[in-house]
Amino acid sequence: MKTPNKKSALKEKAGVVISQNISSQSINRVKQKRRKKPSVEDLVAGITQQDKVALSRAITLIESTNPLHLEQASEIIRRCLVFANDAVRIGITGVPGVGKSTFIEVLGKHLTAKGKKVAVLAVDPTSAISKGSILGDKTRMEDLVRDPNAFIRPSPAGSSLGGVARKTKEAIVLCEAAGYDVILIETVGVGQSEIAVHSMTDFFLLLKLAGAGDELQGIKRGIMEMADAIVINKADGANLTPARHAKAAFSSALHLFPPKDNGWIPKVALCSSTEKTGIDSIWQMIEKYMSINRANAYIEKKRLEQDKFWFMRTIDEQLKLQFYNRKEVKEALKKQLEAIENKDVNPFEAAARILKLVQS
Ligand code: GDP
Repeated sequence: MKTPNKKSALKEKAGVVISQNISSQSINRVKQKRRKKPSVEDLVAGITQQDKVALSRAITLIESTNPLHLEQASEIIRRCLVFANDAVRIGITGVPGVGKSTFIEVLGKHLTAKGKKVAVLAVDPTSAISKGSILGDKTRMEDLVRDPNAFIRPSPAGSSLGGVARKTKEAIVLCEAAGYDVILIETVGVGQSEIAVHSMTDFFLLLKLAGAGDELQGIKRGIMEMADAIVINKADGANLTPARHAKAAFSSALHLFPPKDNGWIPKVALCSSTEKTGIDSIWQMIEKYMSINRANAYIEKKRLEQDKFWFMRTIDEQLKLQFYNRKEVKEALKKQLEAIENKDVNPFEAAARILKLVQS
């Protein structure tokens, strides 16, 4: 190996010093920038002036776990609620690969072409592990990302689905204050996250693929009951005929379910997100649903029920979090788990010992 001579060693050292200086300068600049954080007033003003940067920063505050940020976030939400518009909130679910992001992009572009402003949010139950896989991939929805009338935000990361979903529910308020008329909320076909998204939207759309006559198998009853529409995607090419059969099968199956409390019978539609067919009639269906259910005040009633749901759920979550974060609870849990392992105590008695700490 070649030994570096003294000169080059010095040069190298100087280079390191220079690059260290540069990096410390840029770090300082970043620090200064960070210190100059906009106030709550600035952010609210920015949001209501439809500034995407302000909106993004405010959502970042919502997603933060820093107690100071939490306070600011709740103040922003409180102020933004006054500006809430009459946006349509649409939940979109389906298994990975069904075409959710392709569909959302096409629907989103269709709506911005009609002069609407579209926000896309996500609830990803796996985000705690994958740090927000839904919408996190920059290559997804490239056209919509560039659209000045669209705002796309990946799923927040979080330690619990409840936390992740609540942050998205709060982000809706900010998006509405920023003038978005349509809020699309994507989730994956995993039970709990679908319930959460159903509980923050006006219209719930299930994306499906046509199978070989087994459409109804493997579909959970709960999700059929939640869906306001089932859209069979990839109804193109050789898939078109199976898609038509699937549509007939779903339509007759949906009639077997009791009608929803607003009397709406879920619709089944076909679409091809790649060929952009069926998109307009799906939007018309959603508009029809909204106009009927706004006129009879169902949307208002549903949103109130949803607010009560989130009220209870937030208390539930926070109580659990506070309890499990207590030092003595952590220690006692460890002790009781060991006792169970050693068969020194039965699980019920061990639980009773822990629950005693609730009163303390
Ligand atoms: P997601 O995981 O549900 O978000 O699915 P993607 O939108 O990423 O789509 C998965 C794959 O299906 C991609 O290769 C898409 O190009 C393809 N795809 C999506 N929609 C359609 C469609 O309507 N027709 C066909 N033929 N392919 C589609």
